[in-house]
Amino acid sequence: MTIRIGIVGYGNLGRGVETAIAAQPDLALAGIFTRRDPATLATLGNAPVFALDDIDAHANDIDVLVLCGGSASDLPVQSPDLAKRFSLVDSYDNHAKIPAHFAAVDAAASAGGTTAVISTGWDPGLFSLNRLYGEAILPQGETYTFWGRGLSQGHSDAVRRVPGVAGAVQYTLPAEDAIARVRAGEQPELSTRDKHTRECYVVLAPGADAEAVREAIVTMPNYFEPYDTTVNFITAEELARDHAGMPHGGFVIRSGESSAGVSQTIEYQLTLESNPEFTSSVLVAYARAAARLEAKGDHGAKTPFDIAPGLLSPKSAEALRAELL
Ligand code: NAP
Repeated sequence: MTIRIGIVGYGNLGRGVETAIAAQPDLALAGIFTRRDPATLATLGNAPVFALDDIDAHANDIDVLVLCGGSASDLPVQSPDLAKRFSLVDSYDNHAKIPAHFAAVDAAASAGGTTAVISTGWDPGLFSLNRLYGEAILPQGETYTFWGRGLSQGHSDAVRRVPGVAGAVQYTLPAEDAIARVRAGEQPELSTRDKHTRECYVVLAPGADAEAVREAIVTMPNYFEPYDTTVNFITAEELARDHAGMPHGGFVIRSGESSAGVSQTIEYQLTLESNPEFTSSVLVAYARAAARLEAKGDHGAKTPFDIAPGLLSPKSAEALRAELL
């Protein structure tokens, strides 16, 4: 059976979902839905583009929506609204507000008889699963999440707002010595400064004072002050040539003891050349699970914790037992 997907919102993730669907044997793209004028959207492929306001007219052509809006203001509105009428998947990543988002989407999906998987992707998403596996399997121990090397959109924006900055990107790096101590089973207590460092690549505006810009960045409260930050000055050409990608990744490490003196370590690592393309690849696998749960009558909101792994695969349960178990 082919599962027909609608993309809601066409930014980085929207483009990534369009690409990811093409790599899946049983998924087809029914259409792209946007709040902008559909005629103005230049898409990667030739899927039809429609106004989001008209989405109800396409309900019979769609099995699952993949929501690609932003977590700050799009998903808190779009997920509960669309879950009343469509099964869906979103990547809501505001960790502190996930319980409230879940409650709003669950009410809508339960009333509408749909299945809505929220907060999937890699963090939240695959990293969350690995934190859960670690804790469940090794109850005596510590879980560590390190992010990077990765481009941080929020921190890059903060650097761009510093007077004298014409362009900038910011990378978050995991501290190698902290990772080495965790891997060695030390279970160290790590401060924010111990775990990550920050690296900025900055193009100065004409006449700007490099030292003043550097000082403004490294002392910025919350964003940079709690970290060791290095600032590198580059040209606009170097910024465009060397820093256009959106790499990311990181590690989840559970370090514990199964009995006194018997140390056990679980490590999960992602090295991503494109954060949005990878996140989108996760979203479409969960769209398959959402379609299957809806068909079984298992409705309401779900998180990755509620989805059995076999539901993510296009293979049958029999094939999975024979090939991967
Ligand atoms: P984005 O590119 O800013 O797109 C967000 C929305 O903005 C789009 O759906 C689109 O909606 C609109 N938009 C995009 N480009 C536009 C343009 N040129 N002009 C006007 N509007 C435009 O955001 P993103 O990078 O795809 O990320 C979306 C969310 O994914 C993030 O907020 C983050 O929370 C989440 N995320 C989660 C994970 C995870 O692991 N869970 C990982 C990465 C990201 P319309 O088409 O309707 O205008």
